[in-house]
Amino acid sequence: MEVAKVSMLNDLNTFSNNYSIRVKIVSISKKMMNNNKNEIYRLDMIFMDEMETMIQASCLHKMLGKFKEFLQLDECLLITKPSLATNKSSAKYTKRNDKISLYFYTSVEKCFDWSGPKYRFNFVNLKDVVKNKFEVNTVIDWIGYVDVCFNLEDTSKKDGSKGKRLNLRLEDIEGQKCPLTLWDGFAIDMFAYMNDKKREKYVVILCHFGMVNLYKGKRGVANGFELSRLFIDTDIKEISSFRKSVEDEFLNNPDFMLIGFLGTISTTKKVLVVGTITAICTNKLWYYNGCNHCKSGVEERFVTKENPDGLSDVYHEKLLVCTNDKCEGVDIYSIPRFKIPIRVQDSSGIVSLTLFDFEAYKILQKTAKELVSIQDQVENYGISMATNDDEILSALCTKFNLNQV
Ligand SMILES: [Zn+2]
Repeated sequence: MEVAKVSMLNDLNTFSNNYSIRVKIVSISKKMMNNNKNEIYRLDMIFMDEMETMIQASCLHKMLGKFKEFLQLDECLLITKPSLATNKSSAKYTKRNDKISLYFYTSVEKCFDWSGPKYRFNFVNLKDVVKNKFEVNTVIDWIGYVDVCFNLEDTSKKDGSKGKRLNLRLEDIEGQKCPLTLWDGFAIDMFAYMNDKKREKYVVILCHFGMVNLYKGKRGVANGFELSRLFIDTDIKEISSFRKSVEDEFLNNPDFMLIGFLGTISTTKKVLVVGTITAICTNKLWYYNGCNHCKSGVEERFVTKENPDGLSDVYHEKLLVCTNDKCEGVDIYSIPRFKIPIRVQDSSGIVSLTLFDFEAYKILQKTAKELVSIQDQVENYGISMATNDDEILSALCTKFNLNQV
């Protein structure tokens, strides 16, 4: 048999089929027969070569008997004489408009000397997603930790079948938050993990071949179609290094401050304090009406308008207006958000802080009404991130030599 030359995916052309490719199956999904949901119609895959180039690939049911044992997720293969077909699938997982097809003259064997990477992620910046820099339904890789996880919901699909939806809020190292929606199997797996008592405190989630999503008028991220892969606290280097950065955010914050010295700061800056919540101030409101777009406060304003019926001269209309000049929101409505005034004490003093929104939700898991407080306000600072994780707190105490109960 003639020996076919190993080609890179970037060099493939339609002039000849007489070549081999060395690829790793980085995603795989089964499409079942329309008339028989137990029988596979086609395997759809994404192949990656050793230069990290990706291409979509498929194998029709007639050829499965020959190749099925090789076509497993994360398998590395040497494929000789594949065919190059037009990629007609609606979801574009790669920029190419062709795909590999395994056909009658193709042969497949395991590749034991794979020199490419295990995974090749191309993470988007969550800020770019939120700021509408991507079209909805663009295939992307995303990573973040779970800031908030809401309840699993039932959905009805266009074809009448039932599904599941899970809304979450993702956050990156820069503190950028982004709505996350997971569907069906991905939603069910994630919700089960979030409710697992043995899970990590900071849940890091990564999606390979995920998607830019539009939910209630806002851009966010989601799992994509069948070829998406979700990694939840999986032991891979991208997740461990992300986790380390999240924990460092608390442990290695360079501007740790004793509460007694907060008064020496003259400019706006982020600092880390470690203390005990001793009181909730009940003389101040524990929530505010926030803009649905930017979270700034909203105000009701009366606007005078000319009456369209022309009978009476003018009329007054009550309008919700965002107090943030830079807010780009339209059709603004208000959402009550936590703004809980608390007193926090360490060995050097006591200070008034404000627990905003989800930081409050995460720690208290009940309303401020249930808590009692007594102290007056002296100084007031905002909180950008809070933790009640025992390990982090004890690490902080050791690090900064704090010996408080
Ligand atoms: Zn706003």
